[in-house]
Amino acid sequence: MVSQNRRYIFLGPQGSGKGTQAKMLADMLGLPHISTGDIFRAAVDQNTILGHHIATGLSSGKLISDEDTNSLMADRLAAQDAKNGFILDGYPRTMAQLEFLEQLAPPTKIFFLDLSDNEAVKRLVGRLVCSGCENVFHLAHKRPKIKGVCDNCGGELAQRDDDVETAIRERLRLYHKETEPLISFYEKDGRLIRVDGRPDIKTVHKVVSEVLQL
Ligand SMILES: [Zn+2]
Repeated sequence: MVSQNRRYIFLGPQGSGKGTQAKMLADMLGLPHISTGDIFRAAVDQNTILGHHIATGLSSGKLISDEDTNSLMADRLAAQDAKNGFILDGYPRTMAQLEFLEQLAPPTKIFFLDLSDNEAVKRLVGRLVCSGCENVFHLAHKRPKIKGVCDNCGGELAQRDDDVETAIRERLRLYHKETEPLISFYEKDGRLIRVDGRPDIKTVHKVVSEVLQL
């Protein structure tokens, strides 16, 4: 019988690899990998009033409000494929979102991928992102086979303006401010699992799998 409570969350700074880990675990368990980026893009595509609202917010670089984010997340989690569980990536990011999720579908385990700011900066500076499939490469650690071209889809690789060190440090500062209360909340009732985010992707995935006894 399929367990009814495989509701997992990945928390961690940019560069910690939480998106990659969330996707690997989702594929392994046959559960949907749900990121806020994806649900925002889906809402924009659907051309609803909320979609227009989100599109305006995203294009002006503003954060989407907790209310809109929660509402989209509630719709997404009500879908059939999320009945047996889900893997969340990038949600919740505020206490208002956390409280909403506690009412809706309390997560069973929260994986916190721990990475120092200096390590995150080292990973993020030099990142190359594919314009087609959003696969991430790195000038130093993960070069594409052909310069400037995605190994996956042949799309064009580009460095993002916000991947310069000052912008990264500012994002990390905001991340700490937002995320620390979430970490304390989940830590108190024992649902938080701290995972060292420094090792390579496979090693981190192995640690996560072992925690879940997979
Ligand atoms: Zn690509």
